Amino acid sequence: MIVVALGLWFGFPVAIRSVTGRRIEELCRRRKLIALTFDDGPVPGMTERVLEVLDELGVKATFFMIGSLVEENEDLARQVVDKGHQVASHTQNHLNAWRVGPIRGVGDVRSGMRSMKDRELAVSWFRPPRGNATLGTVLSCWLHGCKMIWWTHDSGDTGFGSGKTDMGIREILKKVATGGKKSVSTEDVMCPEKREGLLCSLEETGGVVLLHDGKRTYEGYQELTLECTRDIVRRAKDKGFRFITLNDLK
Ligand SMILES: [Zn+2]
Repeated sequence: MIVVALGLWFGFPVAIRSVTGRRIEELCRRRKLIALTFDDGPVPGMTERVLEVLDELGVKATFFMIGSLVEENEDLARQVVDKGHQVASHTQNHLNAWRVGPIRGVGDVRSGMRSMKDRELAVSWFRPPRGNATLGTVLSCWLHGCKMIWWTHDSGDTGFGSGKTDMGIREILKKVATGGKKSVSTEDVMCPEKREGLLCSLEETGGVVLLHDGKRTYEGYQELTLECTRDIVRRAKDKGFRFITLNDLK
């Protein structure tokens, strides 16, 4: 009985991810669509830079915002909407649903939605932090009239998922901290072959791309996000892809 309950609790969202992921992939491939998504903001100093780059490229994107940061930076969240982008929820405190109890996990989803709705920021999509969701996350999301979505392509702009190992990044950061290196360069956190792989795959299939406008410890990480965004848009536009927000997917 316990095994069945646990299987449902953790397995149901995995099944949804797989089914919706395949449908989105198919739709994006058929219609040549790419949705850029930025997680973990709004953060002063970074979100504005992302907005500038999107303006310069002439595309709209979707921002998965953390409720506590929306409360601190309400004007910035509104600026994102005023520029024609879409906002969505990414919980209140970015808790990992697989690491906290069910009550805290569900509460984090609910509070995140409320923080945005209380400020009249329309929310119709939700993405779980680190992609980890439970049955409680799914039900809470549905109760708030939101759809859950993950991503089809990880840009690797956090340094993870880029082909560099976790240890490699820690080593780099240690060097920075000890003065052995002045800043993190984009080459340090993302190997060029993996970047090329990401761009080639997107040019083939389109999809939903994961990027971040959250808090960054080092300048290099900010630059990596902006560089990835420019590369993706320029190359995919040349191949005839259209950039959309998630509401356009519906
Ligand atoms: Zn996140």
